[in-house]
Amino acid sequence: MKNVEYIIVGDGYAAMFFAHQLIKNNKKFCLFSEGKKSASHISAGIINPLVLKRFTTFWLASEQIHHLHQTLSEIQEYTGKNYLIDQPIHRIFHDETEKNLWIKKANDEILKTFLNKNFTSIEGVTNPFSTGKVNCSARLNVENFFLDMLEYLEKNIFLTKEKFDYSEINLSDNSYKNIHFTHIIFCEGMGVTQNPFFSDLPVNPNKGHHLKVVFPNGFKQSVTIKKKHFLFPTNEHEYYYGGTYDRNQTHSDVDQSAKEQLRNGLKEFFPGNFEITEVNFGFRPTVKDRRPILGRHQKHENLFVFNGLGARGILNGCYFSKTLFEHIENNQPLPPEVDLKRFA
Ligand SMILES: Cc1cc2nc3c(=O)[nH]c(=O)nc-3n(C[C@H](O)[C@H](O)[C@H](O)COP(=O)(O)OP(=O)(O)OC[C@H]3O[C@@H](n4cnc5c(N)ncnc54)[C@H](O)[C@@H]3O)c2cc1C
Repeated sequence: MKNVEYIIVGDGYAAMFFAHQLIKNNKKFCLFSEGKKSASHISAGIINPLVLKRFTTFWLASEQIHHLHQTLSEIQEYTGKNYLIDQPIHRIFHDETEKNLWIKKANDEILKTFLNKNFTSIEGVTNPFSTGKVNCSARLNVENFFLDMLEYLEKNIFLTKEKFDYSEINLSDNSYKNIHFTHIIFCEGMGVTQNPFFSDLPVNPNKGHHLKVVFPNGFKQSVTIKKKHFLFPTNEHEYYYGGTYDRNQTHSDVDQSAKEQLRNGLKEFFPGNFEITEVNFGFRPTVKDRRPILGRHQKHENLFVFNGLGARGILNGCYFSKTLFEHIENNQPLPPEVDLKRFA
């Protein structure tokens, strides 16, 4: 038998940031990855302290941004890489009214940190009312982050590249196949619906598509442009544009209507030609009250869930992985807003 303190089920943001807590605190663990491309792996990687429809901020935004910076520099210590890309969001204003609203909100005590008052005009795109820069926004290098984290786990920890089989858990002696564990943390995103211990949680899928596009006549931009969706470069030639939101479609194929929505969204502010090279989609695990769900199973005290990261997988995943770790290891109470018990 192999002994571990933790088993992590999943390989998205929830799992990786919780794994970081375990690495940092020298805990023995193993992580199960079934190797599917899920919401985290196809996400845009946007780190955004604002709600860009209304120019407001959200619960714990500053704390979450600060914690993310700290965490990424801790991760850099063992992977050797920086995953933060300094390409802040530039929000294209629809009209003068929106621009004036931004100016008004930029005087608010909390919002002034995030709403830059110096407007910029971006070349090559239609932005007659210019753009507002979101201070403290950035992007995560999603591809490299997951590649490196999985490689690190494979080389140094214990990565099991297979689907975790719930029927193999033996709760009378805390074993799973040949592994003896103290705790299991389920970080399965929408996979939670298959989990017999947590399938009744109110986590709902929100399907998101994005495009990969190239601009045959050339277009070079090194900021993240936001109008309807986000546009930013992923390499020298290719750009990411997305993602859509759809609570109704749950089938596992590309929705042509989402592709059209993206094509039209891009045409609205990009006057030149573009070619779509890829369409991808994933399912955000969302909760009606827009808060993550974390905590201990009501009956089985060594089973935990970490889910419901919604549209903010990076900030929520990073911040609340520490909250959950402190709860398990040091008996720190969970904030009621995210505690699984709110659904009891
Ligand atoms: C198009 C799109 C763009 C997005 N852009 C952003 C963005 O810019 N910024 C941001 O912060 N968030 C973004 N999000 C949201 C973010 O992706 C989600 O909040 C986040 O991915 C949820 O992470 P998770 O780890 O909970 O779930 P997931 O990413 O779904 O990961 C769960 C993983 O667990 C695995 N798994 C499940 N069951 C098992 C099992 N039994 N055994 C082994 N493995 C299992 C699955 O294969 C999956 O890989 C975006 C989402 C979409 C769809």
